[in-house]
Amino acid sequence: MAALIRVVSRLARTNRGWSRGVASLADLPETHDMLRKTCRDFADNELKPIAGDLDREHRFPTEQIKMMGELGLMAIDVSETKGGTGLDYLAYAVALEEISRGCASTGCIMSVNNSLYLGPVKNWSTELQQETFMHKDFLDGSKVGCFALSEPGNGSDAGAASTVARLEGDHWVLNGTKAWITNSYEASATVVFATTDKGLKHRGISAFLVPMPTEGLTLGKKEDKLGIRATSTAYLIFEDCKIPRENLLGQEGMGFKIAMQTLDAGRIGIASQGLGIAQASLELAVDYAMKREAFGSPIAKLQTVQNKLADMHMSVESARLLTWKAAAYKDAGKNYIKEAAMAKLAASEAATFCAHQCIQVLGGMGYVTDMPAERYYRDARITEIYEGTSEVQRLVIAGRLLKEYADITSW
Ligand SMILES: Cc1cc2nc3c(=O)[nH]c(=O)nc-3n(C[C@H](O)[C@H](O)[C@H](O)COP(=O)(O)OP(=O)(O)OC[C@H]3O[C@@H](n4cnc5c(N)ncnc54)[C@H](O)[C@@H]3O)c2cc1C
Repeated sequence: MAALIRVVSRLARTNRGWSRGVASLADLPETHDMLRKTCRDFADNELKPIAGDLDREHRFPTEQIKMMGELGLMAIDVSETKGGTGLDYLAYAVALEEISRGCASTGCIMSVNNSLYLGPVKNWSTELQQETFMHKDFLDGSKVGCFALSEPGNGSDAGAASTVARLEGDHWVLNGTKAWITNSYEASATVVFATTDKGLKHRGISAFLVPMPTEGLTLGKKEDKLGIRATSTAYLIFEDCKIPRENLLGQEGMGFKIAMQTLDAGRIGIASQGLGIAQASLELAVDYAMKREAFGSPIAKLQTVQNKLADMHMSVESARLLTWKAAAYKDAGKNYIKEAAMAKLAASEAATFCAHQCIQVLGGMGYVTDMPAERYYRDARITEIYEGTSEVQRLVIAGRLLKEYADITSW
């Protein structure tokens, strides 16, 4: 399989027309379709059978992440010259959907490493910083990174960061608490956002690279969550945590810009995670409806059940088109902020809707842990919250939309 991903990577470089033109969104190029099948097989064989156990035991899928690293799935859009897989964001979206279809927790871990950790490191770090923070271990699944923006007092209002960093000689000294940090218990490094000049508000936020563990950095308790229970989520507590001066990522005061650009791309990943959950819910509901008999025939023959399946199918397909469009815009170098927000909003709502309907189609069997429907329902919910809530996505979409209209009218 690893060899296949390398072939796909090579083929993809000669087949970028789809992303550039966005002429037909109906089908994937052959290269991406091959990748999709590879990831689907991996998810069916390696993730689906254990996803329930991972969830029950709150167990990080160490072995599976290593296998995914070997397949090239933990650093999909890092260039081959830097040791990554060298594929585009469409490939990332396609692969992440399939992995999340098998196990949403594993999809979450993959998305944090690819887009929230490696994304800003790749885009803003120096060659020297890359030796440590983009070391091959972070690319091949041996190590994972995390991204620490949210705080107990501010999530959506990320510009109000109260974590501070002050320069003391050759070191930055960090103080403050970051909340809800995914991968925190397993991570070997984090990108952290802290205020270096309070007077400048969000323009006074800077980004830092912090190896983990580090003196002065402790972890809070693991959160006991509704879903994605195989991922760790915890506070990062910085108390006079000293890091070398050269661990500043980008320039001083650029942190907010780095965070927002990272989240724009990350939203395509969360959309793909939502699609995976929605697709898994749809497949389970169809399969069950064709096998379960009531009143002498399969419930799939009942029109009310058919209506549910039709609505589920339509919500997944339309969200997938928005997600692929956002990825294609990013790959083509177009502005994709609105597209990524629309993709995340549509796909996360599709995930919640489809998981809800799946339980309904399964009846009592949807409500017990013998079947994965109840896990899909719990896993789906987070996609409407992290990397910007649905309310925040609507603000982003409306803001860009009004600006576009203002540019063409005299409003
Ligand atoms: C499991 C999990 C994993 C996470 N992983 C990470 C991570 O790895 N790194 C990280 O930095 N963060 C992470 N987060 C944090 C996540 O991004 C935030 O929870 C999210 O951004 C919402 O922030 P909040 O929880 O502070 O809610 P709040 O911002 O307090 O929002 C509460 C409610 O008010 C609404 N609201 C807020 N502002 C507005 C507005 N302007 N207009 C309309 N409605 C508004 C929200 O939509 C929401 O409904 C994670 C969270 C969870 C639960």
